[in-house]
Amino acid sequence: MEDSLDHAVRLLQEAKKTIALTGAGVSTESGIPDFRSGGGLWSRFEPQEYATLRAFRADPEKVWEMPAELMSITNAQPNKGHYAMAQMEERGSLVGIITQNIDSLHQRAGSRRVVEYHGSLASFSCMQCPQSYSFADVQSLAMPPRCSHCDEILKPDVVFFDEQIPPATLRETEEFVMNADLLLVAGTSCQVMPSATIPATVRAHGGKIIEINREPVLVDMADVVLDGSFAKRLSQLMDALS
Ligand SMILES: [Zn+2]
Repeated sequence: MEDSLDHAVRLLQEAKKTIALTGAGVSTESGIPDFRSGGGLWSRFEPQEYATLRAFRADPEKVWEMPAELMSITNAQPNKGHYAMAQMEERGSLVGIITQNIDSLHQRAGSRRVVEYHGSLASFSCMQCPQSYSFADVQSLAMPPRCSHCDEILKPDVVFFDEQIPPATLRETEEFVMNADLLLVAGTSCQVMPSATIPATVRAHGGKIIEINREPVLVDMADVVLDGSFAKRLSQLMDALS
């Protein structure tokens, strides 16, 4: 009988357009703290107080405590799973990635087509003037970083809870999802947008699903479920494909 890994490899070989959807679970294996689990970031930084535009406008110094903590994890590196996904794209086995993560680890591993659904900490904008800044620009500044032109506190280019997802991001996500015949879901509990709807959308137009999660959540919907570590499972898949 075909085991789960062989089944997943066969689906990857048969698919014409595979996309990936990734969440916090792929970054925790790189040492980035989780948001939603018990003891996660949201238990220390109440989202309404630390992750809304309203809170940022009222008290940007306070809101900056969380991105400052995330940015201080400068030793976080992509793990084997990130690298395996980049290799899959390179060899034509993966069209692109939709990620809910804001840490840019997919790009640092070499992935080129990455939709950052919730923005990222790779860039920062001034809300008073048109200036924007890179991670490297900001990293060396005292926290919270200020605009060198007008002295305003900069806003990380992440999408806060009370902000709209930028239209270009929505369009790119839709294009990926509508054309995909295979979805690789990894490291997300599929509770928040876009992960809450993408698997069902892919399924609705006949696409297949591979789920890789330590605690699988799509058991009824996925064609194959691989439990365990993201780094280990992606490496296994990549090895089998090469
Ligand atoms: Zn400015």
